[in-house]
Amino acid sequence: MISFWEQSELLHADTTIIGGGITGLSIAASFLERDPNRNIRILERSAFPYGASTRNAGFACFGSPTELASDMELMGADAARELVFKRWMGIQITRKRLTDAAIGYVESGGYELVEEGQLDAMELEALNDVVADFLPDYFANATDRKADLGIEAPGKLISIQGEGQVNSGQLMKSLRNYVSSMGAEIINGTSVETVNQQGSSYEIELNDSVRSSFLLTSQHVIVANNAFAGRLLEAIELKPGRGQVLLTEPIPNLKFRGNLHIEEGFYYLRDLGNRIMFGGGRNLNKAGEETTEQGLTDQIQSALEEYLIKLFGQRYKIEQRWSGTMGFTSNKQPMVHRTPEGIWVVAGLSGMGIALAGYLGEELADAW
Ligand SMILES: Cc1cc2nc3c(=O)[nH]c(=O)nc-3n(C[C@H](O)[C@H](O)[C@H](O)COP(=O)(O)OP(=O)(O)OC[C@H]3O[C@@H](n4cnc5c(N)ncnc54)[C@H](O)[C@@H]3O)c2cc1C
Repeated sequence: MISFWEQSELLHADTTIIGGGITGLSIAASFLERDPNRNIRILERSAFPYGASTRNAGFACFGSPTELASDMELMGADAARELVFKRWMGIQITRKRLTDAAIGYVESGGYELVEEGQLDAMELEALNDVVADFLPDYFANATDRKADLGIEAPGKLISIQGEGQVNSGQLMKSLRNYVSSMGAEIINGTSVETVNQQGSSYEIELNDSVRSSFLLTSQHVIVANNAFAGRLLEAIELKPGRGQVLLTEPIPNLKFRGNLHIEEGFYYLRDLGNRIMFGGGRNLNKAGEETTEQGLTDQIQSALEEYLIKLFGQRYKIEQRWSGTMGFTSNKQPMVHRTPEGIWVVAGLSGMGIALAGYLGEELADAW
C-alpha cells in the first residue's frame, strides 16, 4: 500500500545505483562532481555494505610481480599494464577526493615473497618496463630486508614501490559522508530483487524488513553490487570468491610493517598497528569458496594460522576472524558494461578493488 506522499515525492529517482560499496559510492561521487544537481539514489541491502568494501585487508595496491606476470600471460602486456594503471590512478582519485587523513592512507610500501629461483633481475626489469611511465622502479629485490621485517620463511622478497594502506572503515565512512553531503540519497536495508525496463525508465522491486515487496522507478539504473550482479542480471557472468581473514592480538615489538603478497595474491598480510591481519587461502578449496555466503571454515582458518607460523616462526593469538565476498570476471578485467536494456553494470573488480573503484566511477561518468 503506497501513500500519496510516497507516490509523489519518494518513489522516483533520476539515477539509482544498486550496491553501496566503494564502487557504488565512487560512481555517485564522480557523477555529482560533474553535475551537483543530479538526483542520485543508492540502494544498499544492509545497514553497512555487506560484500567486500568494509571487510577487506585495506591494501591500496596495483599488482604484485607474480600477479603482473600472470596477468600479462592471461591478457597480454598492454591490457595488464592498463589494469595496473587504472588501480594506480583510482587510488589517486580517491585520495584527492577524500584526503589521506580521512581514509587513513599511509604509503606503507609492499612486498611479495616468491620462491628462491623465481623472478631474476632480468625478469624484474622486464616487468618494471611495462609500468615504468607511471610507476618507476616498481619492483626491486629486497631479500636483505627479510630479517628486519621478521620474516623467517624461505624465499626471495621483492619490494613494491608506491603501495599503501587505507583504513577501510574510515574510507567508507568518509566516502559515504562525501556523497551524502553532495546530495546523494543512501537507503540502507533495502535489497533489490528485480529490475525491469518499463518504456524509457525502470521498475525496481525492493524488499526491506517491513514491506515484503514494493516498487521504485528510476530513469537510469546502475548495478554496482559486484559479486551479486549475476543475481539481478542473468546475462552477467561473474564468479563470487569468498575471502577469509584473521587478525592477531597485539604483538609486542612487531617487526613487520607494510603489505605482503604471497602465492600470486592468494595470501595477503599487513600490519594493523601492532597486529597482523592475514587473509587468503581461497585456492585450498576453490569450489567451496565460490560462494556469496559469508562464513569461515576450519580448513582455511587453520591453514592461515599455520602459514603465519611458517612466516614468522611463532604462533600468535587470534583476536578476530571474518570473511568478505569478491566478484571475479573470467579475464580479470572489471566490467563497465551497458546491457541491451540500457542498464549499466560496474562489477567484477576481481580483487584489488579499493584502488580500482575510484577509476571505475570516472570511467562510467566519461562513458555516460
Ligand atoms: C577478505 C578480502 C580482502 C580484500 N582485500 C583487499 C585489499 O587489501 N585491497 C583491495 O584493493 N581489495 C581488496 N579486496 C577486494 C575489495 O574489497 C573489493 O574489490 C571491493 O570492495 C569491491 O567493492 P564493490 O563496491 O564493487 O563491492 P562490494 O563491496 O561487495 O559492494 C557491493 C554491495 O552491494 C550490496 N548488495 C548486493 N546485492 C544487493 C541487492 N540486491 N540490493 C541492494 N544491495 C545489494 C552488498 O551488500 C554490498 O554492500 C578484498 C576483498 C576481500 C573479501
